[in-house]
Amino acid sequence: MTAQREWFEKDYYAVLGVNKDTAAKEITKSYRKLARKYHPDTNPNNASAEEKFKDISAAYDVLGDESRRREYDEVRRAGPSAFSGHGGAGSQHFSAGGSDINDLIGQMFGGRGSRSRGTPGPQRGNDVEASITLDFVDAVQGITTSLHLTSEVQCQTCLGSGSKPGTSAKRCALCAGRGVIEEDQGPFAFSSPCSRCNGRGSTIDSPCKNCKGLGTEVRAREVNVRIPAGVDNGQKIRLKGRGTPGRGNGQPGDLFVTCNVLAHHLFGREGKNLTLRLPVTFSEAVLGATIEVPTLDGESVVLRLKPSTQPGSRHRVKGKGIQSAQDAGDLIVTVDVVVPKEINKQEQKVIEELARLSTESVRSHIK
Ligand SMILES: [Zn+2]
Ligand SMILES: [Zn+2]
Repeated sequence: MTAQREWFEKDYYAVLGVNKDTAAKEITKSYRKLARKYHPDTNPNNASAEEKFKDISAAYDVLGDESRRREYDEVRRAGPSAFSGHGGAGSQHFSAGGSDINDLIGQMFGGRGSRSRGTPGPQRGNDVEASITLDFVDAVQGITTSLHLTSEVQCQTCLGSGSKPGTSAKRCALCAGRGVIEEDQGPFAFSSPCSRCNGRGSTIDSPCKNCKGLGTEVRAREVNVRIPAGVDNGQKIRLKGRGTPGRGNGQPGDLFVTCNVLAHHLFGREGKNLTLRLPVTFSEAVLGATIEVPTLDGESVVLRLKPSTQPGSRHRVKGKGIQSAQDAGDLIVTVDVVVPKEINKQEQKVIEELARLSTESVRSHIK
């Protein structure tokens, strides 16, 4: 697996003076510029320029090819973790080590690199994250809706096989389809994923043009989603098997949908209970009242307030909250006593009279 080992040792991006996010076109540009500068024709008898030119060519060989670049990124991403169990013996071992240690690391690394791409046998697809914005009522009552998202799906051309239509994958000649290779190296006995098939057990001679042999492609798709009654803002729903397809008969990943629930102009939520603020007049609060209160299902209910109902007091209407299969929440009504903004002469007179008659001291406890 010298290719992969080399990939880990060398930062091709640095060699070409670009970075991981640089677009393909810019990479080509940068390569051409450097290649001209260090070309042996313009630098005769200059060994270091020649070395540099070789490095540049090797780097562009990988980064200039879309699928090889992707593989390279993947290998380098997986790379350092291959050493996590070895006391942090980092990448310096790679460049400093003798051939033995390099072979050893190459083995370990080969194993690690291919595990991220596909260990022998089925490999589960990735989970996909998406979000949906829901109307308050839809979130409370539940709704079936469609979700538009762009994600990896099975390649339509090869139906996921990765082989050009009309051809099929061949049993890997190196590992005879077992996906692993056993090697004795002195005191070590290795069993590592096959380097030719990357542990898949089969190789593709004519890769599908659409997916370049990956078996998947990125495509916009529509997913029907059943939002259960009572989802709350920020809640995540898991749709089993609606993520990206698995490889080698592996299970597909799951789709996680985060629900953003829009506010309602009247009702709020406290878990499975709905909340409502109810404005009442001073007289209603003092004398008590029977008030019609709206509910989310459209039918109003009658709420009886006792005399001396306090502002901020909470009143429960049983069963008028969020209904789920198991139970129903309540509607919690909070009383707001509204002080009139304007009063007429007659009201003014009566209230002044009331003030005179009033005997209750409301501030005795703060004196
Ligand atoms: Zn394909
Ligand atoms: Zn193989």
